[in-house]
This record gives sequence, C-alpha cells and structure tokens, in this order.
Amino acid sequence: MTAQIIDGKQIAKKKRGEIAAEVEELKSEGVTPGLAVVLVGSNQASKVYVGSKQKACSELGMHSELAEYPETLSEEELLEKIEQLNNDEAIHGILVQLPLPKHISEKRVIEAISPEKDVDGFHPVNVGRMMTGQDAFLPCTPFGIMVMLQETGIELAGKHAVVIGRSNIVGKPAGQLLLNENATVTYCHSKTKDLKKFTLDADIIVSAVGRNRMVTAEHVKKGAVVIDVGMNRDEAGKLCGDVAFDEVKEIAGYITPVPGGVGPMTITMLMFNTLKSARKQLEKLQHCNA
Ligand code: NAP
Repeated sequence: MTAQIIDGKQIAKKKRGEIAAEVEELKSEGVTPGLAVVLVGSNQASKVYVGSKQKACSELGMHSELAEYPETLSEEELLEKIEQLNNDEAIHGILVQLPLPKHISEKRVIEAISPEKDVDGFHPVNVGRMMTGQDAFLPCTPFGIMVMLQETGIELAGKHAVVIGRSNIVGKPAGQLLLNENATVTYCHSKTKDLKKFTLDADIIVSAVGRNRMVTAEHVKKGAVVIDVGMNRDEAGKLCGDVAFDEVKEIAGYITPVPGGVGPMTITMLMFNTLKSARKQLEKLQHCNA
C-alpha cells in the first residue's frame, strides 16, 4: 500500500480560511493586523519570497508594508528602521528577509526586533520561550510541520522522531517542538555516522538538509511518517525535496510532497503569527482601558 500524501496546500488553505475570519473579527474591533517586511539587496529568491508574503497579507485582509533598500544600506540605518517599526502601532510583525549582505550582522538585526513583533520566531527570547514550553512566536517552517502533523491526526507522544539537519531556523526548532509534544527525538547532521541506523528506527523522519535523495527507500521503516522540508533542484532543474518521493511513498505510511507539502505552510504560519501579535496588542489595549 502506498503512503497517504499529506497535502500541505489543502491544510494551508484551511488554516488561511480560519486566519481570514479572525482578521475580519479583529478589524471589527478596530485593529488591522500589519506585517512589515524589510528587504536589503536584490537577491532574486528573496524578492520572490517577499512578494509571496505580501500577496498572502493582502489575500487575508492584513496590512503589509515593504521597506526595500539597496545592498549598500549600513547596519546602523537598518537598526534605525527596525527601531522605528518596533514603535509603529500599525505594525504587529516585523520580518527581515534573510540572508542579509555580509557587512550586516544577522545576529544584531534579529536581536534588535522587539520579541513582541518577532513573527519569524528567531529572537533569542522567543527561542528560549519555545525551549521552555512557554507561549512564544514559533519559527514558521517547524510550526507548519507541527500543524500538518496535528491536522493529519498523527500521534506524537512516545514516537521516535529523527530530524536530519540542525539549522537554527528549521532542524533545531523542529526537534524541540516534537520534544514538546513528547516524541523521543534524535538529531542527525553532517557529522552523523551511519544515518540509516537512526532513520530505520524512526516513526517520524523530518529531513531538512537541502540535498536531493538524502532520504531513499533504504532509510525508511515501513509505515513511517516522512516530512520533507528540502527545496532543491534535480538534474532536470525541477523543484524537488530531500526525499526520493517515488520510492519512499511505497514504504512510508504518510509523506509530504515537494512542492505542495511543507512549503505552503510556512507563509501561512507567518500570517498566523502576525494575527496572534495583533490579537495580543488588542488584548493589552482592552486591559489598559478596563
Ligand atoms: P542549512 O542551514 O544549510 O542546514 C542544513 C543541515 O543539514 C545542517 O544542519 C547540516 O549539518 C545538515 N546536513 C548537511 N549534509 C548532511 C548530510 N550528508 N547528512 C546529514 N545532515 C546533513 O539549511 P536550512 O536552512 O535548515 O534548510 C534546509 C532545507 O530546507 C533547504 O533545502 C531549504 O531550502 C529548505 N527550506 C524549506 C523551507 C520551506 O518553507 N519549505 C523553509 C526553510 C528551508 P551541519 O549542521 O553538520 O552542517
């Protein structure tokens, strides 16, 4: 029997419907959720991502602003812009599109964003809150993975989850969120010896490497859940993930496709975080006026 496909597009559509309804509710109470996106330089991929984020905002009835700067922008100027956005009441979420030009420190920039507006979930305060199981803005891609698993009804407690990749934006937080849901988590990375030994024992595999055919049929236990975060190009230049989809789907119980899997969830969770931030601001105002 072939695996059940986890349809990220469908789940994202459902979530976006819920978000749009809540945006309307907030608007009726006088708050329009607003996202500011800051883009420095002319990286083509970044421009595409930024465009998709703005489009999602407008589709869901949110306010969005784009601050676009040339590659030559200084770190000081960028930090000033962030400070201005931190103090802007129309803005509930600030996203600085990465990567930044080499002369600007990503660490300093991320730390300059108010944790209350850090809808990417990259600020150390939000990372710490997530680690300790407190309410936090969760990083969008791992958050999207968790929502997909939840919407598919996959039980996580007691399951062995193997996360391949340990980046700060995907691998590490994905493992932490699975741990928060009581999975037993193993991290694998480029220095892992005998990857198969771990993946063959996994009930859930999350692959976030960025390499075509990282996970093949040989790596997967029968019935396992396989989540493919990778976004790569195959020999023919076609978009593909880390997982050899055609062969792994014959063994896995559930599998996410690329495209149409994790990808559509990422921007959806960014919208969710922006809405959450706006809702919090409204609650604060109501509390002050009470
Ligand atoms: P990254 O920062 O380059 O991290 C890649 C990770 O893979 C590193 O931890 C690295 O280990 C590990 N790795 C490399 N070679 C390996 C090997 N042979 N065996 C085991 N692990 C290996 O990448 P990222 O930002 O996390 O992104 C990962 C992939 O997800 C990329 O394809 C990216 O485009 C995609 N992505 C997709 C979305 C989406 O919305 N769908 C969002 C974000 C990223 P070391 O730490 O030891 O170097």
